Amino acid sequence: MLIEPGVISDLKSVLGPDNVITHSSELFAYSYDGQPINAIPDAMVMASNVQEVAEIVRFAGSHHIPLVARGAGSGMTGGSVPEKGGIVLNLELMNRIIHINEEDLIGYVQPGVITGEFQKEAAGRGLFYPPEPASSAFSTIGGNVAESAGGLGCVKYGLTKQFVEGLEFVTARGNIVRTGVYTDKDSPFDAGAILAGSEGTLAIITEIAIRLIPLPESRITVLALFRTLVDAAHASNSVLSSGVGPAVLEFMDGKCIDTVREYADVEIPEGTGALLIVELDGDGDYISAGHELLLDVLKRSDPISVKSARNDEERKELWKLRKSLSPSIGKIAPLKFNEDICVPISKIPDICAFIEDLGSKRDVMVVSFGHSGDGNLHVNFMTHWKKPDEVERVKQGVDDLFREVVRIGGTLSGEHGIGIAKRPFIPIALDEATIEFEKKIKRAFDPDNILNPGKIFPE
Ligand SMILES: Cc1cc2nc3c(=O)[nH]c(=O)nc-3n(C[C@H](O)[C@H](O)[C@H](O)COP(=O)(O)OP(=O)(O)OC[C@H]3O[C@@H](n4cnc5c(N)ncnc54)[C@H](O)[C@@H]3O)c2cc1C
Repeated sequence: MLIEPGVISDLKSVLGPDNVITHSSELFAYSYDGQPINAIPDAMVMASNVQEVAEIVRFAGSHHIPLVARGAGSGMTGGSVPEKGGIVLNLELMNRIIHINEEDLIGYVQPGVITGEFQKEAAGRGLFYPPEPASSAFSTIGGNVAESAGGLGCVKYGLTKQFVEGLEFVTARGNIVRTGVYTDKDSPFDAGAILAGSEGTLAIITEIAIRLIPLPESRITVLALFRTLVDAAHASNSVLSSGVGPAVLEFMDGKCIDTVREYADVEIPEGTGALLIVELDGDGDYISAGHELLLDVLKRSDPISVKSARNDEERKELWKLRKSLSPSIGKIAPLKFNEDICVPISKIPDICAFIEDLGSKRDVMVVSFGHSGDGNLHVNFMTHWKKPDEVERVKQGVDDLFREVVRIGGTLSGEHGIGIAKRPFIPIALDEATIEFEKKIKRAFDPDNILNPGKIFPE
């Protein structure tokens, strides 16, 4: 135990005993996220407002106790795992949509708001929040901002960080700072932009001003099937370079298709090696011209077939393929290493060819899918705890993958962040000067290394 019992008593007297959890059976729930990495905190505390957050941060600082912010704990890199023990700061009670300003197209939310609930609330007012992580039904906006989450709409509209108009946050010294639209003074440095994607290592985000756009008038969804993953990758690039401007451009490889066919009652012909789901959104004129252009591009890309959804029912049926993917993959094997690499779009065919060979080279099962429109591919190595030799080969495969991604100009992560899981690979992705510069930013925000210590950069 990192924290002395007397300090826990002090914490309880500051926050009230009900807001401080120290029983190990309850703490277990806060010891992991979406990755198989696990560490039990000394305490979990719940804050209901920014003043309480500031108080907790000051308390952790004065006792030199690590403090790890936690949204829904759905991260995929161990970001909210309290690796060094200490306090988990649970933000789920700060879950109020404070106000949606329909005229200024901005929503003001607390960090614990579930992303999908905010999207629904905005849609009810004719507004749209495009970044849609597949976890939007349970992940929080605070966690999305801290990771700069990506998702289906990012190929057209950008990542979460592109929708942050302002932030309120608590610094590592416990001061409350407001940036962006929260201040009417121009600030030369955009501290809010640095916090988006900082993975809880620089400050605790306590309120977010989120940009909204009007809901698109209509959508059209198209499914194209291909013989090989590389064929689909070339078609994806043709769609992007055609200027049609897809709102969604997703791919799935043949193993994903086989898995979904087996577990989710969808009809896709045997032998299909990959598919693309492409969606356009906008006004009626754009949709009809864009649809024609899209069909033309896809048909010239040597597909097995191309099919458009003619109504909501058919659209739902097409999306069933993609939406059944995560639960279906989970049935292949209990342990999944999910790497969300990102490559320049011109390199998608090359990396797809590399991924196809990687499984046989390392004798492991690799299934891939993702947002081909922005070069963000989810490469999943499927294995089992009970097969240590295979787990070792998977780790070698992950290493091969990251080295190749960096070699061709890509990044270790498109949306999940670095956290603990990808930390060992930072030195192959960034040179020493860059790592030192980034560490200086961390020291400037958090001189005593209290906030999520040890994450992102190897110590
Ligand atoms: C099935 C599934 C599908 C997923 N699909 C996607 C996807 O499509 N796109 C995508 O980007 N991700 C995806 N993810 C990963 C995950 O949902 C995202 O990373 C999400 O943004 C994490 O949000 P959270 O609320 O769960 O944050 P947590 O996991 O609790 O925390 C994530 C990180 O943010 C920090 N943090 C949380 N709240 C705050 C705060 N208020 N202030 C400062 N730091 C904070 C934490 O310390 C941690 O480092 C998926 C995960 C699952 C399980």
